[in-house]
Amino acid sequence: MGVTIRKPTARQCEDCGRREVWNDATGTWQVARDDDGERVVGRVYCIHEWDINGTFVPIEMDGTDAVDV
Ligand SMILES: [Zn+2]
Repeated sequence: MGVTIRKPTARQCEDCGRREVWNDATGTWQVARDDDGERVVGRVYCIHEWDINGTFVPIEMDGTDAVDV
């Protein structure tokens, strides 16, 4: 019971397709690689619209949906 802190471990740009994965060891995002081992860097000048924006919920509450006040 209680609150669970969730961290994203992967994200993808909805604009250029850049993929990054979280590196716990370094505490930074790193460019992901595809099945061929190629770095998925996307576009250099893209400002990147990460797919975790808006939908990712960092804090998960147990059984507490929004209620009318
Ligand atoms: Zn992008």
